[in-house]
Amino acid sequence: MITEDTIAAIATSPGEAAIAVVRMSGVGAIAIADQVFRGSILPSKARDRSVLFGDIVDEYGNPIDEVLLIVMRAPRSVTGEDVVEISCHGGLVAPQRILRRLLEKGCRLAEPGEFTKRAFLNGKIDLTQAEAVCEIVRARNEKAFDLAISQIKGKLSQRIDSIERAIIDCLAPIEAEIDFPEDEIDGVDLETTRERLARVRCEVQELVDAYERSRYIRQGVNVAIVGRTNVGKSSLFNRLVGRERVIVSSEPGTTRDVVEATVNLNGLSLNLFDTAGLCEASSSVDREAVRRSIECLEQCDIALAVLDASEGMHMEDYQVLEKARGKRHIVVANKIDLAPNATIGGCESVLKVSALTGVGISDLKDALVKVAHSTGLSDLEFLINERHVRFLKEACENLKTAMDGISTGVPIDFIASDIRMSLEQLHQITGREFTEEVLEEIFRRFCIGK
Ligand code: GDP
Repeated sequence: MITEDTIAAIATSPGEAAIAVVRMSGVGAIAIADQVFRGSILPSKARDRSVLFGDIVDEYGNPIDEVLLIVMRAPRSVTGEDVVEISCHGGLVAPQRILRRLLEKGCRLAEPGEFTKRAFLNGKIDLTQAEAVCEIVRARNEKAFDLAISQIKGKLSQRIDSIERAIIDCLAPIEAEIDFPEDEIDGVDLETTRERLARVRCEVQELVDAYERSRYIRQGVNVAIVGRTNVGKSSLFNRLVGRERVIVSSEPGTTRDVVEATVNLNGLSLNLFDTAGLCEASSSVDREAVRRSIECLEQCDIALAVLDASEGMHMEDYQVLEKARGKRHIVVANKIDLAPNATIGGCESVLKVSALTGVGISDLKDALVKVAHSTGLSDLEFLINERHVRFLKEACENLKTAMDGISTGVPIDFIASDIRMSLEQLHQITGREFTEEVLEEIFRRFCIGK
């Protein structure tokens, strides 16, 4: 695809770094660079990918900033077009003035994600790789970053390609039977096709299942800290967060609303929720507080049920354990400093900790990471997003319809059509087929300059 216009944008967050990069892409990029750059050599005469030192100058030849400039000629550039990258001083002024100068010379300000979009349209990357660029920039933890890198290297595309090949293997004999019915001696073995489609469908379903786990990585695993009042939930929360995020008091019922903070442990993000004590509530405010705690517990991915080691088990503790057992959970006996030899009856394994002294906290962090990983996070190779899962589910449906069609003796033309539709859904994920709406959906999430 040849785009007529040349786009430009600041590719770094202005004002935050000592160095900024202003980027141009398009047919006019190098000619514009020639007009605004003054150095020992003209950009158009420079060797591909060599670094030039000089000034960006204004219309009177006065220097705007001292820069390093790199010319990357089409098609060996990030967008597949002529690209010029200018490394200038950071801050608010220098990159903006350089950008203004490029716009004066005929560049158009890039739209969000337009560099990546051009890379896609020029066949440099597919859509999953384009999305990975966004995932890299937005990664909140190391694991999300690692998976985004694996995706930009084509891991998800490879998996989709391999599923597509398996579907084509199922489809080809059916298409042959439709096109040349008289050539086939035995006809197509539909029962074997059905079994093969079932296997492919499982593979697609595995990717659908990876969506939920991708969410854990991307947004963090939700951990609700629950227990009766005064067992030390807020103290534990503060200890895990590493600062005094919530008020701790010996007065019961200090925490009324659910308080949230995110911590990164072993490359994972954990969203911790400190909840109000689960107890018999007398006032309407307390009842609302308890309702919110229960809602938080029900919606979380992991429940951290807190007991008080210095006191025996209360009726309410049993109720808390009962609720926590419905999901992945860890039972913690807090205040172990007050009762080092305490035995906690009535529950499976209990981690003994003291939010006050810090004893057992690193074991608790390890346990949290372990339980978070038990959701299958370690098996993830890429991040499945909402867009992918939508097409994957459709593909699953199409494959199921084809399989059912074989079972019920539907004419093979219909079966072929359903199988073909499943392929089309998968093509949308990588962008082998795409609509303007899909491009709009993907690239509007980008920031300008990417
Ligand atoms: P919550 O109501 O469950 O959130 O409990 P808080 O975190 O507000 O703590 C209630 C009281 O227990 C406060 O006086 C805390 O200082 C105290 N406390 C919390 N954790 C510990 C601990 O590990 N050891 C001791 N000795 N006291 C603690």
